[in-house]
Amino acid sequence: MINEVLPNIFCLKIPLPHNPLGVLNSYLINGRERKLLIDTGFNWPECRSALLQGIAELGLKLEDLEFLITHVHADHSGLLFDLAPSGSIVYASKRDADELRACFTKTYWQEVDREFGLYGFPQNRLGSEANQIKSYISGHDLEFVYLQEGTVLEAGGYRFTCIMTPGHSPGHVCLYDREQKVLISGDHILPDISPNITLWLNVEDPLGNYLQSLDRIDQMEVELVLPGHRGFIRDCHGRIQELREHHRARLDEIMEILEAGAMDAYQIASRMTWDMNYSSWDEFPPFQRWFATGEAIAHLQHLLLQEKIIRITTPEKYLFALPA
Ligand SMILES: [Zn+2]
Repeated sequence: MINEVLPNIFCLKIPLPHNPLGVLNSYLINGRERKLLIDTGFNWPECRSALLQGIAELGLKLEDLEFLITHVHADHSGLLFDLAPSGSIVYASKRDADELRACFTKTYWQEVDREFGLYGFPQNRLGSEANQIKSYISGHDLEFVYLQEGTVLEAGGYRFTCIMTPGHSPGHVCLYDREQKVLISGDHILPDISPNITLWLNVEDPLGNYLQSLDRIDQMEVELVLPGHRGFIRDCHGRIQELREHHRARLDEIMEILEAGAMDAYQIASRMTWDMNYSSWDEFPPFQRWFATGEAIAHLQHLLLQEKIIRITTPEKYLFALPA
């Protein structure tokens, strides 16, 4: 279950049962001075025991570790509060640490529900779904050390620089070692699945941010990407090109769908093609519909800012249409 990817960088495979992602790659950089654990898995017993076993196999204790989350999502942050002993150093971007704190509050989810409702997501279906996320993350009482663009963390002979890569989350962070040309990419760049880009409160254009963050990484010399899920990536720039193409095709698909007339985001999502094993939209579990609608919203927000589509505000919701 542990694999030394590079000298002193270990990959711990943390199972994510019943989740299409399958496994989280947690990375432990085992330096003499600093032992840094990057991402944790959900606050689930399966994740917890896998992580603790991996740490023990390396002869380490939780007290030895510093913790870092690449982004707020529960498959990365879920065990943080449970595992990090009090007084531990825990790194995150300020923006995602704020999101993490906010997602324990009722008002956060009420606002998210309201926003999704404006985009046509059936209101009665959501409340319990969004609330479920809370159970994926333990506690909420930690002091973070904030990562910023350019923050350097040295460990195990590496010199990792933080690269802010907003998009998949508003404060997503990648770690880059320029000399070794290694990128720890979190969920910014994944092989064979495209990172979910969705609606965030107070973010105008998540997809635009994501594409810009891809451009930033594309300008760097990278020979090995260590992603948050699935296998390692050798051809970083090729993968970035595929991800750009994926979103371009998505944007085109939405423009084609809108040729049938004005629609809300939920209706648009129901007509988009999804790489899932359900024969129709009606068979999607509500949670998958929620992700799909979020993805459609992010693309619509991007098209709107580029003035390729227009938004019609009715008393209940937003409709989208091609310009007259
Ligand atoms: Zn993830």
